Amino acid sequence: MASQRQIQVGGVPIGGGAPVAVQTMTKTETADVRATMEQIRRVADAGADIVRCAVPREKDVEALKTIVRESPIPVIADIHFNYTLALKALDVGAHCVRLNPGNIGGPDKVALVAKRANELGTPLRIGVNSGSLPAHLRELEFENPVEALVTAAVEFVELMERLDFTNFKVSMKSTSVPNTIASNRLLAERIPYPLHLGVTEAGTKWSGSLKSAVGLGTLLADGIGDTIRISLSTFHAEEEVKVAWEILKALKLRARGPVLIACPTCGRLQFDMDMVVAEVERRLAAYEDPIEVSVLGCAVNGIGEARHAEFGITGAKDMGMIYSRGEPLKKVPTERLVDELFAEIDRWYAAGKRVVRDEASAAEARDWLAENEDATAMTPERLAAMEAAAAAIDEEASPVAGRRFNRA
Ligand code: SF4
Repeated sequence: MASQRQIQVGGVPIGGGAPVAVQTMTKTETADVRATMEQIRRVADAGADIVRCAVPREKDVEALKTIVRESPIPVIADIHFNYTLALKALDVGAHCVRLNPGNIGGPDKVALVAKRANELGTPLRIGVNSGSLPAHLRELEFENPVEALVTAAVEFVELMERLDFTNFKVSMKSTSVPNTIASNRLLAERIPYPLHLGVTEAGTKWSGSLKSAVGLGTLLADGIGDTIRISLSTFHAEEEVKVAWEILKALKLRARGPVLIACPTCGRLQFDMDMVVAEVERRLAAYEDPIEVSVLGCAVNGIGEARHAEFGITGAKDMGMIYSRGEPLKKVPTERLVDELFAEIDRWYAAGKRVVRDEASAAEARDWLAENEDATAMTPERLAAMEAAAAAIDEEASPVAGRRFNRA
């Protein structure tokens, strides 16, 4: 279940039922303020709620002073091994400090950081990594890595509570997707604090995105997790943010920007839909509203599954059609489908988000649809609809019900 406690990182609430916050980490040398700020602005534009910067040296903590002041989103200082850097990061105004109590120099050093954080009202992120568990848990790690991770996290939580510090979130990172899922499920039952989710060193954009979607998506669908970071091997941190948003959008936990629906295509396809979908996706990136836009490879299903989409296109060899909310708008030559789709979307905006329908064009499109539709064809969409009806899925009873947020 979602965490009971809530903390504030800058102005961003984490936990306690708040929308799942998207975070990423800059890939630049933090001391290079210009490069770091450029990346922070890019990730903020892509939708990051929070950004984390590595602070391994004195010159990084110096730079952090300017970065915290200029950043459009809250900044977390990522500290390992050196508690004095953690103290300095707190003093220069970091909105949160991430540290691993196991590698910061012992409980007395953790106590100093917690005391300073308490005085400033700054939260901490307490992190545990599968690669750096305390020595006394190494044997358990060998026998039961999940229990070892959870034990380490609970021990750190108990240490913070003994220090009278409860303004923190917890992360437990593993490179293993099954261990990430199992350990976070266990930890969510044992502690009330917000959880930061991530699959550590997930890999390249392709494999890392999939691992993260499976690991984090499974937990989020269970209602576990309050902030997420996708770790990808790329210098473009905004790519991590885009993947995080796709996971949250897929689970309908948050909405941001348009949602593109596209059929998988099959032997009925008669136009170059790959190119069309890529172009629609590229142009949609310029829009902010969570409108649904659908691309169907043929009209044999009618408008079918795309009935709820604000706008959609369906193509055939020479002609295609543009529709809105299940109603045909106009018939257009296939090569003009994308341009006309965006002309309709822009017309909709210009009319105050209202569909402007020309009845003569709509009638022509309806005739075209009737000619091309085949209500008897067993298409992938119709088979899926039949399977869904047979499974009788109750949308309201789904694990994400009640956790649907829409942060405008
Ligand atoms: S039948 Fe379905 S999957 Fe095949 S091209 Fe038409 S819309 Fe796409």
